[in-house]
Amino acid sequence: HIKKVNESYFGSYSSFGIHREMLSDKARMDAYGQAISKNPSLLNGAVVMDVGCGTGILSLFAAQAGASRVIAVEASAKMAAVASRVAKDNNLLSSKNETRVNGNQKGVVEVVHGMVEEIDKIVELQPHSVDVLLSEWMGYCLLYESMLGSVLYARDRYLKPGGAILPDTATIFVAGFGKGGTSLPFWENVCDFDMSSIGEELVTDAARYPIVDVIDHQDLVTSSTILQTFDLATMKPDEVDFTATASLEPKSSTSCCWCYGVVLWFDTGFTTRFCKETPAVLSTSPYTPKTHWSQTILTFREPIAIGTGEDNARKPETIGTEVYPAAKIDLRVSIVRSTEHRSIDISMEAAGV
Ligand code: SAH
Repeated sequence: HIKKVNESYFGSYSSFGIHREMLSDKARMDAYGQAISKNPSLLNGAVVMDVGCGTGILSLFAAQAGASRVIAVEASAKMAAVASRVAKDNNLLSSKNETRVNGNQKGVVEVVHGMVEEIDKIVELQPHSVDVLLSEWMGYCLLYESMLGSVLYARDRYLKPGGAILPDTATIFVAGFGKGGTSLPFWENVCDFDMSSIGEELVTDAARYPIVDVIDHQDLVTSSTILQTFDLATMKPDEVDFTATASLEPKSSTSCCWCYGVVLWFDTGFTTRFCKETPAVLSTSPYTPKTHWSQTILTFREPIAIGTGEDNARKPETIGTEVYPAAKIDLRVSIVRSTEHRSIDISMEAAGV
């Protein structure tokens, strides 16, 4: 079953649409581009491994930045062939790839077709001999598709002690959203007709699944807070699965309103630990320009009224008459890899307190 799942997962990466989407994502390209191109003391002369090279873009950046050897590992046969061709067309392919593409190349990029967990016999590479490990492994809600495990495998097998991993931090954030973050306002008035019953059904359904969509920061009704932080240089592979708690307080401008659920997003950091000259951050926050990751929306079964103390007398909107807003919302969220496929299981408990 796992093999089949992998085939369909790597198959999905062999269509060009998704690569175009990633390559057009400005926030993503700027952060990786800056981290790789503007830290010469890290990249110059370095042995680099790019885990999951796709079109090879990060490897091309690394070669351009003066790396002495770039091992570009890609599990999809089609994308590995594409990456070789692209590196060759830009005069960056290593002669070690020459036999396969019939070129006469003097570049430093070696494209290796295989899962990074299985390349040991294919590539001439000593354990713990890589200076810089690059990867763009992040999925929706950071962890969907669970490629992080492969990056940590590569770190533990190939990275030198004290070697760099880019990015080196990943942080999941959470905030509560109000009615504007749901489809209710749309359905309440369709050409002046009340279709709110449809909206209510959709909100009820939404409580069963996470939804990947863009949320406007103006629809957030609570503070934003960190749910979980990962240190990619030191975390253990089993720390990918986690349970964390957080408290959400009303935004200061919110006197009293209903919170319909929470939105999750992530940042990854290319911090000064390794990117000494030019650190960078890739943010997928609702407060920054949107990315192809959007945000992940988790809807409550029932909305929770929240508000600031002085305004407790004000009842939020129209639901009921005995509603007293909570001062904050306590959350417990767990995200664990599904054992049988490349998805994740998210569970959430929320209480107004
Ligand atoms: N680095 C490229 C592509 C990122 S998408 C870019 O930044 O544009 C992630 C890629 O990793 C996909 O092409 C996928 O096929 C590959 N991949 C995922 N898991 C892998 C693994 N275990 N070994 C090798 N490649 C993998």
